[in-house]
Amino acid sequence: MKHKLIFSLLLLMLCFNVSFSQSIQDIINQVSNANLQLRVNELSGEQATVINGVSRTIANRLHSNNDLAADYIEERLSAFPNLTVAVQNFNSTGKNVIATQLGQTNPDNIYMICAHYDSVADYCADDNATGVAAVIEIARIMSQQCTDNTIIYALWDEEEIGLLGANFYAQQVADDTNGNTRDNILGVLNMDMIGYDGDAPGTPGDNDFDIDVRPIANSIAIKDDLLTILNTYSFDLNVIVVNPGTPASDHSRFWNQGYSAVLVGESWATNDETPNYHTANDRVVDIDFQYMTELTKLVAAYVATKSGLVALDNMVTQTDTSLMANETAANYQWYNCDTEIEISGATNQTFVPTTTGNYAVELTNGLCTERSSCINFSVLSASEFSEDELHLYPNPMASVLKIDNRTNENLSITIHTISGKTINKFQSEKSYVEVDFKKYASGIYFITIASESKASTFKMVKA
Ligand SMILES: [Zn+2]
Repeated sequence: MKHKLIFSLLLLMLCFNVSFSQSIQDIINQVSNANLQLRVNELSGEQATVINGVSRTIANRLHSNNDLAADYIEERLSAFPNLTVAVQNFNSTGKNVIATQLGQTNPDNIYMICAHYDSVADYCADDNATGVAAVIEIARIMSQQCTDNTIIYALWDEEEIGLLGANFYAQQVADDTNGNTRDNILGVLNMDMIGYDGDAPGTPGDNDFDIDVRPIANSIAIKDDLLTILNTYSFDLNVIVVNPGTPASDHSRFWNQGYSAVLVGESWATNDETPNYHTANDRVVDIDFQYMTELTKLVAAYVATKSGLVALDNMVTQTDTSLMANETAANYQWYNCDTEIEISGATNQTFVPTTTGNYAVELTNGLCTERSSCINFSVLSASEFSEDELHLYPNPMASVLKIDNRTNENLSITIHTISGKTINKFQSEKSYVEVDFKKYASGIYFITIASESKASTFKMVKA
């Protein structure tokens, strides 16, 4: 039992690390540099994308010619769970794309992150494909979380010809005449140009960025919240607070309506803004994605903090024979992660897999739906091999693992890393098996060997 016990304890420990997705740090960790790069490339027309099933290139995002970009944004946001996506036409060419994630506890309390998607020239990667990509990335991550408060992800049109899209929206939501209710927007965080940092792309720059703020409503408190988050978690950023901040982007239209708002972006205050501003030379090659990723993480942490992550526990506890959702008050549906298909009838808190594979549970509680991480589960039978039947050696080994098989049975042999990842799986009925470990790094490995009726897991060390 000893080997199996160690293995189970290890997996149990991993479950707690891997599955727990309710911390702010976990939200920060999910921000993907690769996703941001892909979206900035697609939005700025550097590479083709697929829109409505057809390969398309977004030639530019001039306000008169950016319906394709709007379609792209709408389609990407619509693919995420828990979002309601609407296109708001505000004049003959202007279209805002607005995605709403309703809060479970206080749906009238609204936090907004936003960016404009129109541009003044071809490409315009920094201004403002970067801000749009960041909003979509944060929506991808946060849409998997239940929140107390409502989050609105807004992508504005016609910023470049007078902040028209944001102005239309801010006027509309502030209107309390004729029986209208003013929307309770508690914070607006606008991202405009978040990808340029002086030095060459990818090199460690000064990481300066600006928070533009004015003492309007509780805007100063948003700035303070951002400073607290910068001090609480680790970011490779250097903040400059600009007060009174520039009104030259969409957030100022919320100031005009008495809402709390700030701008986050590269540092105009230290003259560290892109030299290619408002030209077709504003291209992906000059974007510092490391820097942009840090800024996106900061805004993601702000949204996660202010929206309030609902304490729905989406962790899973694993035993030798079952998987159990930690959450006690929910509806359950278990999934096979390898096929993405829900398992018919598997709707209890505990699930007993009959085949080895990767499994997750989806929890629903009221308006709240969350999914666990995928858990690798090996089906182990009750009985283990005796030492006479199986012998694995040497331990530690240098480059070859040797297995003496005296069971006369066909064995399924699976090798896991210490983090639970399967790196090799094969079958053998030979009485002597050699496994090449030369290509694997030094460290601890778990070898699970199973026959029809027995299974054992061995902890082996590669020196
Ligand atoms: Zn801009």
